[in-house]
Amino acid sequence: MGLVRATSPVTSSGRVYLDHAATTPMAPAAIAAWAEVAAHWANPSSVHAEGRAARAALEGARGRIAAVLGWAGEVVLTGGATDALALALRSAQGPVLVSAVEHPAVFNHAPGARRLPVDAQGRLDLDALEGALAEAGPGALVALMHANNETGVIQPVTEAAALAARAGARLLVDASQSAGKLPLSQADMVALSAHKLGGPPGVGALLVRDPGQLLPFPEGGQERGLRPGTEDLPGACAFAAALEALDPAAWEARRALREALETRLAEAGAEVAGAGAERLATVACLRMPGVAGMTQLMALDLDGFAVSAGSACSSGRVKASHVLRAMGWSAAAAGEAVRVSLGPATSADEVEAFASAWERLAARLMPARVAA
Ligand code: PLP
Repeated sequence: MGLVRATSPVTSSGRVYLDHAATTPMAPAAIAAWAEVAAHWANPSSVHAEGRAARAALEGARGRIAAVLGWAGEVVLTGGATDALALALRSAQGPVLVSAVEHPAVFNHAPGARRLPVDAQGRLDLDALEGALAEAGPGALVALMHANNETGVIQPVTEAAALAARAGARLLVDASQSAGKLPLSQADMVALSAHKLGGPPGVGALLVRDPGQLLPFPEGGQERGLRPGTEDLPGACAFAAALEALDPAAWEARRALREALETRLAEAGAEVAGAGAERLATVACLRMPGVAGMTQLMALDLDGFAVSAGSACSSGRVKASHVLRAMGWSAAAAGEAVRVSLGPATSADEVEAFASAWERLAARLMPARVAA
């Protein structure tokens, strides 16, 4: 198959993969765990010895995920973060309040949700949350991401949790981008995605304090009756192995590279989204004024760099980012940003090569008037 292998710029492939927020390669330990379990597994619902062993392995994986994350509640294994968010949001028993910068997975599963504003740095307006909670009354559900997938901006989840608790509301945190890399947010529910942290795609979890508050999918026979379908045992074991192998310090160590890149490109005319906010170490959202994000994306791809424009999750569809719009950017400006996301092994050479490519592109395409 013609899959493109992205390694280092100095290897023969010449490709540089800077899209780790879209998905990051599976960790060797996760691949090994997946392969081992996939080769010998039985259905965890079977009553024979093989089935019972599979059940034990599944429960083992569940316990390992909780242990690595330091989670004392239940772990419901899901088909990814979107699936976990869907389970949580369908269980809302009152009004749903969300930030305006959530992932589309939240908006799609809570179409009637009230969207709360963020400031110019992309952080939830806590006064607006407090006011909306007072209007909503007890029983509301607040959905807030821990770190934004487009900008890396970290949300005030601790403050939001306190406000929600005081108002008798529940808090759902989407930790897809932060899990394993930052300390887990304490919330009533937390959505996780394995493929953002070295696990396989199509695997995730909903961490939940009180599973009795979840509304099962009507046809659910698995996961304590909450979800339908045979459990993905290889995926669950690979997810647990990826979390155990993950080294948060390796992700954090890219911060200096990301900051140096932003400083250099800002001097060349880039605008950095959320520059004044606390952010993930590995994500930069860079605007090249006057140049459409899609144009940048394609030119950089031809030059050997894999980055994203707008939200990468919606297969090839690029439109003005709702995240940047919510931060007060014009529609034109919000369509001129690309997301660069480093991984735990991204090298200084790779970032240097990207910075030079960006500068060459800006010199060729960025109108001098806009750049000034
Ligand atoms: N939430 C955020 C913040 C994400 O970045 C993503 C994926 O890009 C998702 C949810 C969806 O995750 P999954 O691909 O596991 O469904």
